[in-house]
Amino acid sequence: MHNFTTRRLILGIFLMSSFAAVLKRNPFRLFANPIARPHIRGMHILSIPMWEGTGNNYAYLVTDDKSKESVIIDPANPEEVLPVLKDKTDSGDIKLTNIINTHHHHDHAGGNAEILTYYKLPIIGGKDCNKVTTTPSHNSTFNIGSIKVTALHTPCHTQDSICFLFEDGPDKAVFTGDTLFIGGCGRFFEGNAAEMHKALNEVLASLPDDTKVYPGHEYTKGNVRFAKKVLDNEAIRKLEEFAQANKETQGKFTIGDEKQHNVFMRVTDPNIRALVGHDEPVEVMKTLRAMKDRS
Ligand SMILES: [Zn+2]
Repeated sequence: MHNFTTRRLILGIFLMSSFAAVLKRNPFRLFANPIARPHIRGMHILSIPMWEGTGNNYAYLVTDDKSKESVIIDPANPEEVLPVLKDKTDSGDIKLTNIINTHHHHDHAGGNAEILTYYKLPIIGGKDCNKVTTTPSHNSTFNIGSIKVTALHTPCHTQDSICFLFEDGPDKAVFTGDTLFIGGCGRFFEGNAAEMHKALNEVLASLPDDTKVYPGHEYTKGNVRFAKKVLDNEAIRKLEEFAQANKETQGKFTIGDEKQHNVFMRVTDPNIRALVGHDEPVEVMKTLRAMKDRS
C-alpha cells in the first residue's frame, strides 16, 4: 500500500504524460474553445493618402475579407490610387465592385472617369458626382459581401454630400467625406448652419459611439489648433497630443470621441455658448464656422 506522497507523485506523472500526449496530437486542442471563438475580422480598410502636403486627401479601399468584394471610396487621384488597385486585383486579393463618392468635388469624384477606363464599375454617390450611376436614398442600405452599408444624407458642404456607415458584426466605420473631420467639419459651400447642425448633431451623432471616423482629409492639426482657442478640455488636449505624434489620424477616433473633442459637435457646451455669445445651437454652429473660416 502506497503512502499519501507516493500516490500524489504517481497521479502527477499520470497527468503530465496525458497532457504531453494531447499536446503531441494537437497543440491547439487544449486551448480551443468552440463557444468563445474570437471575432474574425471581416472588414479591412486601407487608407490611400493623396496629394500629401497639399490637399492631404484620403481614398479608402474597403474589403470584405471573406468574399474579397471591395469598394474604392473617393479615388480622386488615379496616379496614386491605380497602382494600389492594380496590385491587389492582379494578385486576386480583391474583387472591385464599386466606386463610392462622398460628394461631387473634384478632389473626391474627379478621378472617376480615369478609373473607369481601367475598371468597369458602377458608381454609388451623390447626384452631382461625375459619372454616378446610383444615388442611394437617405438611410437606404446595400451590401459589400457581408458588410452592410448605410447611406446617410448630410447636405451642407455640398448638397449631394453622403456619409457611408459600414458595419461588419461589431466593427463600425463611417466615411464622412468633407462633412465631418477629426476635430472639425467642412465648409458650408452649398448649405447653411442649420444643415451642418443636423448633419453632425442629429444624423452622425446618432450613430453608435464606437463607430470609427474616416474623413476625406487629414486636417486634424489645424482643427485642434482652432478647437483650443474655443474650448479647453481633456479630450482636446489628448487629440492635440495624438496629432503631434502621428501623421495620420483617420480611423483612430470614434463618434464618441468627436462628441468630446469636436467643437462643432459641442454646440450646447456652456463654455462655447458663452464664448460665441449665443445659446441657440444653429447660431453657435454658424458663429463657430465663421470664426474657423477667419482663423
Ligand atoms: Zn469637398
